Amino acid sequence: IITLAIESSCDETAASVLKNGREVLSNIISTQIDIHKKFGGVVPEVASRKHIENIDIVVQQALDEANITMNDITHIAVTYGPGLVGALLVGLSYAKAMAYALDIPLVGVNHIEGHLSANYIAHKDLKPPFITLIVSGGHTHLVEVKDYGEYEILGRTRDDASGEAFDKVARAMGLGYPGGPIIDKLAKEGNKDAIEFPRAYMDEGYDFSFSGIKSAVLNYLNAKKMKKEEIVEADVAASFQDAVTDVLANKAIKAAKEKGYSIITLSGGVASNSGLREKIEMLGKENGIEVKYPPLILCTDNAAMIGCAGYYNYIKGRVDDMNLNAVPNLQITDK
Ligand code: ATP
Ligand code: MG
Ligand code: FE
Repeated sequence: IITLAIESSCDETAASVLKNGREVLSNIISTQIDIHKKFGGVVPEVASRKHIENIDIVVQQALDEANITMNDITHIAVTYGPGLVGALLVGLSYAKAMAYALDIPLVGVNHIEGHLSANYIAHKDLKPPFITLIVSGGHTHLVEVKDYGEYEILGRTRDDASGEAFDKVARAMGLGYPGGPIIDKLAKEGNKDAIEFPRAYMDEGYDFSFSGIKSAVLNYLNAKKMKKEEIVEADVAASFQDAVTDVLANKAIKAAKEKGYSIITLSGGVASNSGLREKIEMLGKENGIEVKYPPLILCTDNAAMIGCAGYYNYIKGRVDDMNLNAVPNLQITDK
């Protein structure tokens, strides 16, 4: 089975070709980061226009690199939500036109299901059930993966997503966009015990909250500026990252223990964070829980992960027709 996958939910135009769901033949990503950087975040209208310019080139490149032609494709997988509606529509319309012209099945994919499916590509022997911690730019979910395509959400953020917190703190410090990788790098040179930022355990439930720590960092920065005291950026980065990753790692481990799982996977852009990886692996070892995560290129947005999720939809008969529409606030339990 050959899957052509298309992703355009945010600021990456991406296409990928996969064989039997888990073998990546090509994975092309055209990122718009340099364009949105000057605005400090993604500008939806600009993103849509750039997707239109790029999509045809990216898909052609994915076919070329995989060394296949259009006639070799078994089905098309495409992200239909969650994401920016205008951005989603570009990929979705392209996928529909192609599926119609080639007379092959169209399979809509939930972007968040895509993120967690990146682990199936990275770890060939991984199969459900397991616990996954999805930490991305717009989402923070703790999910029980009962089977392929079968999820139960244990907890989610009540306010900011974890990636969003990284981006907002970096923005307040004038470090640039996206903030996650910059803070990660800076944190390596800082002292994580320098500043005591709050950890939101919220009476140990599975939900998260990151707006409190974000405000605490902003207040700290403002107070320092008022008093004209020096701000040691590396210490702020290290202390902030330590507080966020403490909560993420501890809640994931707690969920695995209480629900009786021996595997935790990390997914989404924040799964690239070296502090999070280190901490959860250490806690995993102490508790006899195996921790897995994808390589960096499969953590942030890409189409290979969409193709993998689409493959499992396809073999389960979950295919769509030309009425498939973009759903900006699609939930992981919706499909
Ligand atoms: P969503 O998937 O929720 O719709 P998105 O697609 O924008 O949102 P991703 O592409 O999964 O999100 O991830 C981007 C986010 O990951 C950004 O917020 C970015 O700052 C964060 N990120 C990337 N690398 C790191 C890192 N090393 N440490 C912390 N955060 C990181
Ligand atoms: Mg992005
Ligand atoms: Fe994403």
